[in-house]
Amino acid sequence: MTKRPSIQVAPTFTYHFNPIRTGIISTYPEAICSSCNETRTLFYDFYDAVYSKQSTERPTSICAWCVADGSAAKKYSLRFISADCLSSKRLPASVLEEFECRTPTYLSCHSMRWLCHCNDACVFHGDLSKEEVANPNWEAVADFLSEAPAGMTWEKIAEYYVPSDPSIFKFACRHCNAVFYQLDTYRD
Ligand SMILES: [Zn+2]
Ligand SMILES: [Zn+2]
Repeated sequence: MTKRPSIQVAPTFTYHFNPIRTGIISTYPEAICSSCNETRTLFYDFYDAVYSKQSTERPTSICAWCVADGSAAKKYSLRFISADCLSSKRLPASVLEEFECRTPTYLSCHSMRWLCHCNDACVFHGDLSKEEVANPNWEAVADFLSEAPAGMTWEKIAEYYVPSDPSIFKFACRHCNAVFYQLDTYRD
């Protein structure tokens, strides 16, 4: 049976809320995924993939579904993200597996840091929108400002904020619903 790309339902990802909005998964009219050989419409930008020593074959295209179900990571012996970027170094093995092998990364101008909370990786929501900056989570704001240069106020940030210039990323805990904001200038 031929699959109709137009009715393919986009997969969901535990740790990346909407990778189409954040731009790491893109829409194509129709293309073949080198992992599953199916005609697909959503493809992952795997520029950051980390290949293991066992990896022999390199993909030319990876569809969103082969990221979501772990089949591309398995087939090409790769990780889409390294767990080194997680802010917590002690997470359950099942979390690390899903994070590394089934989670789309995000585009960062600097060294990437993925926040963790409640013994789990947080969900990445991408750039705050202008609307979110105008109506923020104030606990996240307090936390954000505690690491910002002295004299910085949220009002000042809100006045000049343009998404991705620079980004203020939003992460949310899957367990306690805590929200965190992170400026895309973090360096180790
Ligand atoms: Zn595929
Ligand atoms: Zn939490």
